[in-house]
Amino acid sequence: MPDPVSILGVKVSAVDFEGAAGKAMEFLNSDEPKIIVTPNSEMILAASRDEEFCRVLNSADMVVPDGIGVVYAAKLVGRPLSERVAGFDLVCELLSRIAGTEHTVYFLGAKPTVAEKAAEKCRECYPGIRIVGTHDGYFKNDDEVIAEINALSPALLVVCLGFPRQEKWMIKNRERLNIKLAIGAGGTLDVLAGNSTRAPEFYQKHGIEWLYRLKKEPSRIIRMTALPRFALKVIFKGRKYK
Ligand code: UDP
Repeated sequence: MPDPVSILGVKVSAVDFEGAAGKAMEFLNSDEPKIIVTPNSEMILAASRDEEFCRVLNSADMVVPDGIGVVYAAKLVGRPLSERVAGFDLVCELLSRIAGTEHTVYFLGAKPTVAEKAAEKCRECYPGIRIVGTHDGYFKNDDEVIAEINALSPALLVVCLGFPRQEKWMIKNRERLNIKLAIGAGGTLDVLAGNSTRAPEFYQKHGIEWLYRLKKEPSRIIRMTALPRFALKVIFKGRKYK
């Protein structure tokens, strides 16, 4: 892979969607557990203020540019990325590539019943997919959940605990997990379950998925102020970060 692009200290992998999916498939055949994180602007802004979170993101094996803001930021720091690699799309692509193969899947995260509902829907959408287990994301005891995952030794672990919990959880437990690849994917299980919807293609194509989300969930307005704050920080301080 080419050198990563440093955005406010987070080393984003210089990959396009095809490259990211290909690399993820390679990870599924590796000997040690690999980790993919999918930061958007809000997460990178948080990491620029939280050294531990920044270190966690940079310990992943691949850091894909989930949001359009990250793609614009890369341009501003002089290392353009070719396109956005949305965590949701990457998970769907992996599910479609591994359906009918020996690779198994475990869904971890979201509110009770959501992961199971997502699994049921995926069994319809991806015939031959082997989802071997699910667990909600509101557990207190890591040991119990890890024991359950390890007993099933899934190849792919989809972790949707919200950020920064999902990234910290994956990095903290990577040595203990009997898996090939874990990917942190935010609200992916909610969308797969049909509980929330992805923005229509028009919004995605024009880089205004955030506007759709704001329309649907106005309570996210505070979280969304991260986008302009992120942009300003990249414009004024972006080049200072190595
Ligand atoms: N979540 C979870 N455990 C927690 C906190 C959150 O499983 O302790 C789930 C939450 O139910 C939702 C997902 O994590 O399904 C986070 O979704 P969001 O859309 O906020 O994703 P983000 O924008 O953080 O990527």
